[in-house]
Amino acid sequence: MTEKVRPRKQFAQHWLKSEKALNEIIQASQLQSTDCVLEIGPGTGILTRRLLPLVQSLLAVEIDRDLCERLTKEFGRKENFLLVQGDFLELDLPSLLAPFPAFQNQNKVVANIPYNITGPILEKLLGTIANPNLEPYDSIVLLVQKEVAQRLAAKPGSKAFGALSVRVQYLAECELIYTVPAGAFYPPPKVDSAVVRLVPRQFEPPATDTRQLETLVKLGFGEKRKMLRNNLQSLVERDRLSQLLEKLEINPQARAEQLSVSQWVALANELGDM
Ligand code: SAH
Repeated sequence: MTEKVRPRKQFAQHWLKSEKALNEIIQASQLQSTDCVLEIGPGTGILTRRLLPLVQSLLAVEIDRDLCERLTKEFGRKENFLLVQGDFLELDLPSLLAPFPAFQNQNKVVANIPYNITGPILEKLLGTIANPNLEPYDSIVLLVQKEVAQRLAAKPGSKAFGALSVRVQYLAECELIYTVPAGAFYPPPKVDSAVVRLVPRQFEPPATDTRQLETLVKLGFGEKRKMLRNNLQSLVERDRLSQLLEKLEINPQARAEQLSVSQWVALANELGDM
């Protein structure tokens, strides 16, 4: 049925058609009847249809006008549904929602998002290390590119562990729940996908200087396969860094991907004390 709606490339439209994947997304969201959910990119409404009966309210944000018309036809009469047409990245939701108090405070996000803007969406949902979202969601369940999911959930020391892993894991606990093959979509994207669950958290112990941590992570992962101490040359003198690494019991020859998030924080905190 959804195959009748012609997908638009410019909006990264790929309609999910796998029941199994839908079930995994719903299950991972652990929905309760009191939940107020945000869905980004409802598309033809395949996930929306599942979500609506389970939640107190559902706010959906869709950029495509034609799809919005369809969605309004199908769900517009439901009291717990509100659709906003526009670009999720650009919209100022708090002011748009001022007249709709029931839809102001979403506590969960559940979405099969457009993959071309995954990074910016994550940043809008979580904030950044130095500027975190101060009203964090209870949980964020997303369908993303598998490779991104692997980076989000990567453990230190693994190949997938990169700057994105540190940035996002500092702000949220990340788990890869379920891999979804490209064939589960129409049209199939070029890559496989995966369901991830992010649970925002306050990292303990926190970075004392969050800008310092951001700079450190950016530079530290700057050139792949280089030792950390080489990547950080512009920030801290080599001998000083060796001393710090020794103090923190980190191998002085370590590469960026070998440090845990706690070690990045510890290193940033030590540098801040210099
Ligand atoms: N959830 C649907 C559609 C996923 S495709 C499904 O699972 O089948 C991604 C959806 O995001 C499309 O409907 C697309 O139109 C929408 N979209 C793309 N860019 C967007 C943006 N910037 N803001 C809001 N929605 C967007």
